[in-house]
Amino acid sequence: MRPELFHFSGRVLSAAEAALGRAAGRFARIDALAEYNQQKVLKAFIDNKVAETDLWGSTGYGYGDAGREKADAVCARALGTEDALIRYTFTSGTHTLTVALFGLLRPGDTMLCVTGRPYDTICPVMGIDERTDGKSPGSLRDFGVGYRQVDLTPDGKIDIPAVTDILKKDKIRLVYVQRSRGYSLRPSLGVDEINRLAAAVREVSGAIVFVDNCYGEFVEESEPDADVLVGSLIKNPGGGVARMGGYIAGKSEYVELCAYRMTAPSLGREVGATLGNDREVLLGLFHAPHVVGEALKTAVFAAALFEELGFKAAPSSLEDRHDIVQALLLENSENLIAFCRGLQAGSPVDSFLTPEPWDMPGYPCKVIMAAGTFTGGSSIELSGDAPLREPFAVWMQGGLNFAAGKTGVMSAADAVVSLSR
Ligand SMILES: *Cc1c(COP(=O)(O)O)cnc(C)c1O
Repeated sequence: MRPELFHFSGRVLSAAEAALGRAAGRFARIDALAEYNQQKVLKAFIDNKVAETDLWGSTGYGYGDAGREKADAVCARALGTEDALIRYTFTSGTHTLTVALFGLLRPGDTMLCVTGRPYDTICPVMGIDERTDGKSPGSLRDFGVGYRQVDLTPDGKIDIPAVTDILKKDKIRLVYVQRSRGYSLRPSLGVDEINRLAAAVREVSGAIVFVDNCYGEFVEESEPDADVLVGSLIKNPGGGVARMGGYIAGKSEYVELCAYRMTAPSLGREVGATLGNDREVLLGLFHAPHVVGEALKTAVFAAALFEELGFKAAPSSLEDRHDIVQALLLENSENLIAFCRGLQAGSPVDSFLTPEPWDMPGYPCKVIMAAGTFTGGSSIELSGDAPLREPFAVWMQGGLNFAAGKTGVMSAADAVVSLSR
């Protein structure tokens, strides 16, 4: 790294050199992964004959929007599913998951979550938010949908025998899997493990295998063999280009049901003007495999750099990865605050702002966040969150390109190291 642009301390510069050495083997594998996934996506564009005219968009009802239809087909092909809906009109990952769950579940049905307590924003959707005693108006529970849960085993695996026991005894309509760890220290789930679960479920029941795929897209060579996959476009599959949106992909019959919930019964996917946003959806999807590779390298580098500086990383720089999230255990609040401030200072947007810990709704402690992003809340861009409590971890993710991601992480490390100077 040339010294004239950023004045990082000698300790950080030498740790970064050592970290790159430690990460070299991983980087080669990430390059091979990104190349394969990029070719898969390119082939999906070619086979679906994406044309320049598909990028123009529609207005009004949006009937016959060829760009929208091709984006659906490209998305399905890229994720290895029969069918997909990829739409700007989904406001967030939570909204997309909500549409899909309401599309598939009916009063009297029960869903079974097999990865422990779901991601925070999903609990009120299911009606299991303990802060409101499960009373969340408009939740699935409010509509008479039951919820059950199987926790992960102590080593963070899906308890497949416990799941199949329940499926044999009771009527379960949908098995819910969260691939990413969210903001916990459990390992994320590999595609192999989810596929083993899916096979076991299919052996004993007709339940829908539903995967919250957020943060997982293009991190492995294939996506989970689920009946339905759901994700957000301001994470991996938007490639840092899409400014909002989400996707629902999977078996045609299920995607169709979700489409009736997304717009209206009988209209389904045939309507929805794209107002020129097809271009961003398609360009983002096209970039996604490469950008995910850059985010993975940024995460591995961050793990290796902080290991060099004497901290623990989860996953470690040498472990296999199934999502783009990197936790760093920084031991105390001062380090977490310094990290987030340093990360912010090394971001392309709002670098001059100083993040402060705040009482985020729903958290029992103060939380500090760094997000110098082009798209508000985008987490395929370099960003980090740290609740100021045990285990004193910051969860960081993203990085649109490795050169900038690496520099942002070094800026964070420099701020942490300068505390002890
Ligand atoms: C991001 C995310 C969601 C959806 O969150 P939004 O902020 O609504 O996009 C759901 N589940 C997991 C595991 C996530 O990481």
